Amino acid sequence: MKKWNLVIDVAQCFNCNACAMACHDEYFGNEFPGYAAEMPRLGHRWIDIRQRETGRCPVVEVAYLPVTCNHCDDAPCVKAARDGAVAKRADGIVIIVPEKAKGQRQLVDACPYGAIWWNEEKALPQAWPFDAHLLDRGWTKTRGSQVCPTRAMRTLHVEDEEMQRIVREEGLQVLHPEYGTRPRVYYKNLDRWTKVFVAGSVAGVLDGVTECIEDARVVLERDGRALAEARTDPYGDFKFGGLEAGSGGYRVRIADERFAAKALDVALGESAYLGTIMLEPRAAPTRAAG
Ligand code: SF4
Ligand code: SF4
Repeated sequence: MKKWNLVIDVAQCFNCNACAMACHDEYFGNEFPGYAAEMPRLGHRWIDIRQRETGRCPVVEVAYLPVTCNHCDDAPCVKAARDGAVAKRADGIVIIVPEKAKGQRQLVDACPYGAIWWNEEKALPQAWPFDAHLLDRGWTKTRGSQVCPTRAMRTLHVEDEEMQRIVREEGLQVLHPEYGTRPRVYYKNLDRWTKVFVAGSVAGVLDGVTECIEDARVVLERDGRALAEARTDPYGDFKFGGLEAGSGGYRVRIADERFAAKALDVALGESAYLGTIMLEPRAAPTRAAG
Protein backbone atom coordinates (compact mmCIF):
# COMPACT_ATOMS: atom_id res chain seq x y z
CA MET A 1 0.00 0.00 0.00
CA LYS A 2 1.24 3.47 -0.85
CA LYS A 3 1.81 5.86 2.04
CA TRP A 4 2.57 9.56 2.35
CA ASN A 5 6.05 10.90 3.08
CA LEU A 6 7.58 14.36 3.02
CA VAL A 7 11.18 14.96 1.93
CA ILE A 8 12.87 18.27 2.78
CA ASP A 9 16.23 19.24 1.31
CA VAL A 10 17.99 21.47 3.85
CA ALA A 11 20.48 22.60 1.18
CA GLN A 12 17.64 23.91 -0.99
CA CYS A 13 15.64 25.72 1.69
CA PHE A 14 16.36 29.43 1.77
CA ASN A 15 13.75 30.53 4.29
CA CYS A 16 11.32 32.08 1.82
CA ASN A 17 8.48 30.97 4.14
CA ALA A 18 6.17 30.19 1.22
CA CYS A 19 5.34 26.75 2.67
CA ALA A 20 4.57 28.19 6.11
CA MET A 21 2.39 30.92 4.58
CA ALA A 22 0.53 28.39 2.43
CA CYS A 23 -0.12 26.36 5.58
CA HIS A 24 -1.43 29.45 7.38
CA ASP A 25 -3.59 30.32 4.40
CA GLU A 26 -5.04 26.81 4.35
CA TYR A 27 -5.91 26.53 8.03
CA PHE A 28 -6.50 30.07 9.30
CA GLY A 29 -10.19 30.89 8.95
CA ASN A 30 -11.06 27.35 7.81
CA GLU A 31 -12.42 24.31 9.61
CA PHE A 32 -11.95 20.81 8.23
CA PRO A 33 -14.08 18.51 10.38
CA GLY A 34 -12.32 15.25 11.12
CA TYR A 35 -8.96 16.73 10.06
CA ALA A 36 -8.28 20.09 11.69
CA ALA A 37 -9.95 22.91 13.50
CA GLU A 38 -9.11 26.47 12.54
CA MET A 39 -5.54 27.57 13.20
CA PRO A 40 -5.22 30.73 15.30
CA ARG A 41 -4.17 33.85 13.43
CA LEU A 42 -1.02 34.24 15.54
CA GLY A 43 1.29 32.05 17.57
CA HIS A 44 1.11 28.70 15.74
CA ARG A 45 3.77 27.56 13.26
CA TRP A 46 2.59 24.18 12.02
CA ILE A 47 5.40 24.43 9.50
CA ASP A 48 8.14 26.02 11.56
CA ILE A 49 11.20 27.27 9.66
CA ARG A 50 14.04 27.11 12.20
CA GLN A 51 17.33 28.89 11.62
CA ARG A 52 20.86 28.00 12.67
CA GLU A 53 23.95 30.16 12.27
CA THR A 54 27.32 28.58 12.85
CA GLY A 55 30.94 29.81 12.64
CA ARG A 56 32.09 33.39 12.95
CA CYS A 57 32.82 36.19 10.55
CA PRO A 58 34.05 35.80 7.85
CA VAL A 59 33.15 32.09 7.71
CA VAL A 60 29.52 31.78 8.73
CA GLU A 61 27.07 29.14 7.57
CA VAL A 62 23.33 29.59 7.84
CA ALA A 63 20.92 26.69 7.52
CA TYR A 64 17.13 26.57 7.59
CA LEU A 65 15.18 23.61 8.83
CA PRO A 66 11.42 23.39 8.21
CA VAL A 67 9.97 21.36 11.09
CA THR A 68 6.44 19.92 11.09
CA CYS A 69 4.62 17.00 12.58
CA ASN A 70 6.69 14.01 11.45
CA HIS A 71 3.69 11.69 11.11
CA CYS A 72 5.64 9.13 13.11
CA ASP A 73 4.90 5.45 12.60
CA ASP A 74 5.54 4.88 16.31
CA ALA A 75 4.07 8.14 17.57
CA PRO A 76 4.27 9.07 21.25
CA CYS A 77 1.26 11.36 20.75
CA VAL A 78 -0.90 8.39 19.74
CA LYS A 79 0.10 6.62 22.98
CA ALA A 80 -0.57 9.71 25.08
CA ALA A 81 -4.02 10.34 23.61
CA ARG A 82 -7.26 9.43 25.34
CA ASP A 83 -10.47 8.38 23.63
CA GLY A 84 -8.84 7.95 20.21
CA ALA A 85 -7.98 11.64 19.99
CA VAL A 86 -4.97 10.94 17.74
CA ALA A 87 -5.44 8.63 14.78
CA LYS A 88 -2.73 6.92 12.77
CA ARG A 89 -4.17 6.35 9.33
CA ALA A 90 -3.30 3.40 7.12
CA ASP A 91 -1.68 5.80 4.65
CA GLY A 92 0.80 6.94 7.33
CA ILE A 93 -0.79 10.28 8.23
CA VAL A 94 -1.30 11.16 11.91
CA ILE A 95 -4.39 13.25 12.65
CA ILE A 96 -5.21 14.97 15.93
CA VAL A 97 -8.97 14.61 15.65
CA PRO A 98 -10.35 18.02 16.63
CA GLU A 99 -13.70 16.64 17.78
CA LYS A 100 -11.99 14.24 20.25
CA ALA A 101 -8.89 16.10 21.40
CA LYS A 102 -10.43 19.02 23.29
CA GLY A 103 -8.71 19.64 26.62
CA GLN A 104 -5.94 17.06 25.99
CA ARG A 105 -3.03 19.35 26.75
CA GLN A 106 -0.81 16.37 27.59
CA LEU A 107 -0.40 15.83 23.85
CA VAL A 108 1.73 18.97 23.56
CA ASP A 109 4.30 17.51 25.95
CA ALA A 110 4.07 14.04 24.42
CA CYS A 111 5.55 15.16 21.10
CA PRO A 112 9.37 15.12 21.39
CA TYR A 113 9.68 17.35 18.30
CA GLY A 114 7.66 20.27 19.65
CA ALA A 115 5.31 19.86 16.68
CA ILE A 116 2.03 20.11 18.61
CA TRP A 117 0.72 23.60 19.35
CA TRP A 118 -1.83 24.49 22.01
CA ASN A 119 -4.83 26.50 20.88
CA GLU A 120 -5.76 28.40 24.02
CA GLU A 121 -9.08 29.69 22.73
CA LYS A 122 -10.33 26.27 21.64
CA ALA A 123 -8.45 24.33 24.40
CA LEU A 124 -7.16 22.15 21.58
CA PRO A 125 -3.79 20.60 20.67
CA GLN A 126 -3.06 21.08 16.96
CA ALA A 127 -0.43 19.99 14.46
CA TRP A 128 -0.01 20.02 10.70
CA PRO A 129 -2.26 17.20 9.39
CA PHE A 130 -0.29 16.65 6.17
CA ASP A 131 -3.07 18.45 4.30
CA ALA A 132 -4.91 15.14 4.44
CA HIS A 133 -8.25 16.78 3.55
CA LEU A 134 -6.68 17.82 0.21
CA LEU A 135 -4.92 14.51 -0.46
CA ASP A 136 -8.21 12.68 0.23
CA ARG A 137 -9.77 14.82 -2.51
CA GLY A 138 -7.14 13.77 -5.03
CA TRP A 139 -4.32 16.25 -4.48
CA THR A 140 -0.90 14.71 -5.10
CA LYS A 141 1.12 17.28 -3.15
CA THR A 142 0.78 19.18 0.07
CA ARG A 143 0.35 22.93 -0.29
CA GLY A 144 3.88 23.51 1.01
CA SER A 145 5.34 21.23 -1.66
CA GLN A 146 3.23 22.89 -4.29
CA VAL A 147 4.48 26.41 -3.55
CA CYS A 148 8.12 25.63 -2.68
CA PRO A 149 10.09 27.47 -5.38
CA THR A 150 13.23 25.33 -5.10
CA ARG A 151 11.52 21.94 -4.72
CA ALA A 152 13.15 21.74 -1.29
CA MET A 153 9.90 20.19 -0.06
CA ARG A 154 8.60 17.12 -1.89
CA THR A 155 5.55 14.96 -1.25
CA LEU A 156 6.06 11.29 -2.00
CA HIS A 157 3.22 8.76 -2.17
CA VAL A 158 5.02 5.44 -2.35
CA GLU A 159 5.13 2.04 -0.73
CA ASP A 160 7.41 1.76 2.31
CA GLU A 161 9.85 -0.47 0.43
CA GLU A 162 10.21 2.13 -2.32
CA MET A 163 10.64 4.85 0.30
CA GLN A 164 13.47 2.93 1.93
CA ARG A 165 15.16 2.63 -1.47
CA ILE A 166 14.87 6.43 -1.90
CA VAL A 167 16.23 6.94 1.63
CA ARG A 168 19.29 4.87 0.77
CA GLU A 169 19.83 6.39 -2.67
CA GLU A 170 19.46 10.00 -1.58
CA GLY A 171 21.09 9.62 1.84
CA LEU A 172 17.97 10.84 3.65
CA GLN A 173 17.82 11.14 7.42
CA VAL A 174 15.14 11.80 10.00
CA LEU A 175 15.19 14.16 12.96
CA HIS A 176 16.36 12.49 16.16
CA PRO A 177 16.30 8.84 15.09
CA GLU A 178 17.31 8.05 18.69
CA TYR A 179 13.72 8.86 19.77
CA GLY A 180 12.63 5.68 17.97
CA THR A 181 9.47 7.33 16.61
CA ARG A 182 10.04 6.35 12.93
CA PRO A 183 9.14 9.67 11.28
CA ARG A 184 7.68 9.93 7.77
CA VAL A 185 9.29 13.34 7.25
CA TYR A 186 12.79 12.86 5.83
CA TYR A 187 15.62 15.33 5.36
CA LYS A 188 18.26 15.53 2.69
CA ASN A 189 21.58 17.26 3.51
CA LEU A 190 20.68 17.28 7.20
CA ASP A 191 24.39 17.64 7.98
CA ARG A 192 23.96 21.33 7.17
CA TRP A 193 21.86 21.51 10.30
CA THR A 194 23.51 19.01 12.61
CA LYS A 195 27.22 19.14 11.82
CA VAL A 196 29.95 21.74 12.41
CA PHE A 197 33.18 22.77 10.69
CA VAL A 198 36.74 23.88 11.30
CA ALA A 199 37.99 26.61 8.97
CA GLY A 200 40.89 29.02 8.75
CA SER A 201 42.93 31.27 6.47
CA VAL A 202 46.65 30.75 5.86
CA ALA A 203 49.05 33.65 5.24
CA GLY A 204 52.81 34.22 5.17
CA VAL A 205 55.40 36.85 4.21
CA LEU A 206 56.83 36.51 0.68
CA ASP A 207 59.35 39.07 -0.60
CA GLY A 208 58.50 41.34 2.33
CA VAL A 209 54.74 41.30 1.60
CA THR A 210 52.09 39.41 3.60
CA GLU A 211 50.27 37.15 1.15
CA CYS A 212 47.45 34.61 1.25
CA ILE A 213 49.08 31.23 0.82
CA GLU A 214 47.41 29.18 -1.89
CA ASP A 215 47.73 25.41 -2.21
CA ALA A 216 49.16 24.82 1.27
CA ARG A 217 48.45 21.27 2.45
CA VAL A 218 46.16 21.16 5.49
CA VAL A 219 45.50 17.95 7.39
CA LEU A 220 42.89 17.44 10.08
CA GLU A 221 43.99 14.91 12.68
CA ARG A 222 42.43 13.25 15.67
CA ASP A 223 44.40 11.12 18.11
CA GLY A 224 47.37 11.25 15.73
CA ARG A 225 45.34 9.87 12.81
CA ALA A 226 44.64 11.90 9.65
CA LEU A 227 40.88 12.31 9.13
CA ALA A 228 40.83 14.62 6.12
CA GLU A 229 43.12 16.62 3.90
CA ALA A 230 42.55 19.88 2.01
CA ARG A 231 44.45 22.48 -0.02
CA THR A 232 44.06 26.18 0.64
CA ASP A 233 42.24 28.15 -2.05
CA PRO A 234 43.57 31.36 -3.74
CA TYR A 235 42.50 33.31 -0.62
CA GLY A 236 44.44 30.93 1.63
CA ASP A 237 41.19 29.52 3.02
CA PHE A 238 40.44 25.94 4.04
CA LYS A 239 37.45 24.25 5.62
CA PHE A 240 36.65 20.80 7.02
CA GLY A 241 32.91 20.17 7.38
CA GLY A 242 30.72 17.30 8.54
CA LEU A 243 32.17 17.17 12.09
CA GLU A 244 30.20 16.32 15.20
CA ALA A 245 29.38 19.28 17.44
CA GLY A 246 31.12 19.01 20.81
CA SER A 247 33.40 16.26 19.54
CA GLY A 248 36.45 17.68 21.32
CA GLY A 249 40.13 17.71 20.38
CA TYR A 250 41.52 17.90 16.84
CA ARG A 251 44.87 18.99 15.44
CA VAL A 252 45.22 21.00 12.23
CA ARG A 253 48.59 20.63 10.49
CA ILE A 254 49.63 23.06 7.76
CA ALA A 255 52.53 22.48 5.38
CA ASP A 256 53.95 24.58 2.56
CA GLU A 257 57.50 24.07 1.30
CA ARG A 258 58.29 27.80 1.57
CA PHE A 259 57.47 27.92 5.29
CA ALA A 260 57.98 26.02 8.51
CA ALA A 261 55.26 23.46 9.19
CA LYS A 262 52.65 24.54 11.72
CA ALA A 263 50.18 22.70 13.96
CA LEU A 264 47.22 24.06 15.91
CA ASP A 265 45.02 22.29 18.45
CA VAL A 266 41.28 22.86 18.37
CA ALA A 267 38.69 21.85 20.95
CA LEU A 268 35.53 21.60 18.88
CA GLY A 269 32.26 22.65 20.46
CA GLU A 270 30.41 24.56 17.79
CA SER A 271 32.01 25.44 14.44
CA ALA A 272 35.46 27.00 14.76
CA TYR A 273 37.03 29.63 12.52
CA LEU A 274 40.71 29.71 13.43
CA GLY A 275 41.31 33.15 11.95
CA THR A 276 44.40 34.04 9.92
CA ILE A 277 47.20 31.59 10.60
CA MET A 278 50.62 33.15 9.87
CA LEU A 279 53.28 30.73 8.67
CA GLU A 280 56.85 31.43 9.77
CA PRO A 281 59.90 31.26 7.49
CA ARG A 282 61.85 28.02 7.48
CA ALA A 283 64.90 28.07 9.72
CA ALA A 284 68.08 28.68 7.68
CA PRO A 285 70.15 25.47 7.31
CA THR A 286 73.06 25.39 9.76
CA ARG A 287 76.57 24.94 8.26
CA ALA A 288 78.45 21.84 9.31
CA ALA A 289 81.47 22.68 11.51
CA GLY A 290 85.00 22.32 10.09
S1 SF4 B 1 8.92 27.02 0.56
FE1 SF4 B 1 10.70 25.69 0.26
S2 SF4 B 1 12.45 27.08 0.28
FE2 SF4 B 1 10.73 28.23 1.10
S3 SF4 B 1 10.90 27.97 3.34
FE3 SF4 B 1 9.54 26.34 2.60
S4 SF4 B 1 10.90 24.56 2.21
FE4 SF4 B 1 12.19 26.39 2.40
S1 SF4 C 1 5.91 14.49 15.35
FE1 SF4 C 1 4.91 14.63 17.32
S2 SF4 C 1 2.79 15.10 16.83
FE2 SF4 C 1 3.68 14.31 14.97
S3 SF4 C 1 3.26 12.12 15.00
FE3 SF4 C 1 5.30 12.39 15.89
S4 SF4 C 1 4.90 12.53 18.10
FE4 SF4 C 1 2.93 12.88 17.06
